[in-house]
Amino acid sequence: MGTQTLEASFERITVNDDYDDLYNPSAYHKSKGSLSTAMTLTGLATSTSAGNRMKLPLQKLQSTTTTTSTITKVHLPSQVAQHNRDQSSSAASRPSDDPSALTHVRSSIPQQPSSPKLFHLGMFEIGKPLGKGKFGRVYLAKHRSSGFICALKVLHKSELQMGKVEKQVRREIEIQSNLAHPNILRLYGHFHDAKRIFLILEFAGKGELYKHLRKEVRFPEWKAAQYIAQMAAALKYLHKKHVMHRDIKPENILVGIHGEIKISDFGWSVHAPNNRRKTMCGTLDYLPPEMIKPTGNDSFYSEKVDLWSLGVLTYEFLCGEAPFEDEPLKTQKRIVRCEMTVPGYVSAEAKDLIKKLLVVDPEKRISLEDVERHPWIIKHCVKGERATNRSAELAKMMRKSGDK
Ligand code: AMP
Repeated sequence: MGTQTLEASFERITVNDDYDDLYNPSAYHKSKGSLSTAMTLTGLATSTSAGNRMKLPLQKLQSTTTTTSTITKVHLPSQVAQHNRDQSSSAASRPSDDPSALTHVRSSIPQQPSSPKLFHLGMFEIGKPLGKGKFGRVYLAKHRSSGFICALKVLHKSELQMGKVEKQVRREIEIQSNLAHPNILRLYGHFHDAKRIFLILEFAGKGELYKHLRKEVRFPEWKAAQYIAQMAAALKYLHKKHVMHRDIKPENILVGIHGEIKISDFGWSVHAPNNRRKTMCGTLDYLPPEMIKPTGNDSFYSEKVDLWSLGVLTYEFLCGEAPFEDEPLKTQKRIVRCEMTVPGYVSAEAKDLIKKLLVVDPEKRISLEDVERHPWIIKHCVKGERATNRSAELAKMMRKSGDK
């Protein structure tokens, strides 16, 4: 898009700080095709595959950079991350502890000589609401100049302050924007106005994994194995970057348009290059023994906490509920003793993997490399196969058998 068109379209847009609900079609009369926004976006979202990384906006955005002059000077988040790493190799992705940095979340992004405005609300056409979290709403959105479909998460600064989660959000932004893996939800960029923070996220077309699990009650073994293989790949990537997620559970996993899973919600994650942490966090059902009952040297824990959670997740995928689910005190007791039984309908191979992940001593838990090589995973995962492929195959088989 040429400079003229871009500037003209920006002139027509005013960014109103006081929109309580962004999805208010009448509020968007200033932009083209406002009333049909949601439908158009939904259609586009399906055709613009979330998994097709070549279609990412950011490449297109980069070319915009070279053709526009004054209004936008857009930078690739990945370039920014790269620049960060180059500028201060260790400090860039490490969460800082200064809560005042919230209103300047972009302070982690290197200062450009001309101080360019990276993103602002007017650059996006807002579509249907995708969901509501504890601290904000998420909308389907289209980056106007590139047509790229994304999810825009809107967080109100006052709510973050009241909930005392500024640090958590800052950490989420800093960590997630430095990650790029097919099974981890991308955070392409962020911007803020006086009252809100906006996160530009990859759109996960099939929504929450938690909802799929509740609907299906339990996943069949092939599907659970494929999901766990994807989780292991994502965790391997995270741990290589010295990031522990610390809150792995179905509620924090989204599903892409091709049925691939995407770890999201890095609110509890931490960049810990020294591999040792002390803070208690996460969700009780998924907490490992070393975080529940810290004593002496054990009061430190490592990225192996995520292996325990992967065991809990495997169990929950196959059985429909977490293995230690009980009243909170009983759950804690059961976790530290690893008191759980795997139901008889679970295959011997799956049971073996669960037992190798749910090991009280973190050092004795199976490694992620060995998870990927585990017979249960090998049995159900043809290299590169995704859960939907299998669903499509099954549907085809069912259609065929129905024809007979
Ligand atoms: P959150 O505040 O991150 O918990 O998001 C609230 C809800 O919005 C989630 O439970 C999802 O249903 C939906 N959602 C969040 N992010 C995305 C995304 N990137 N793609 C699709 N839906 C999303």
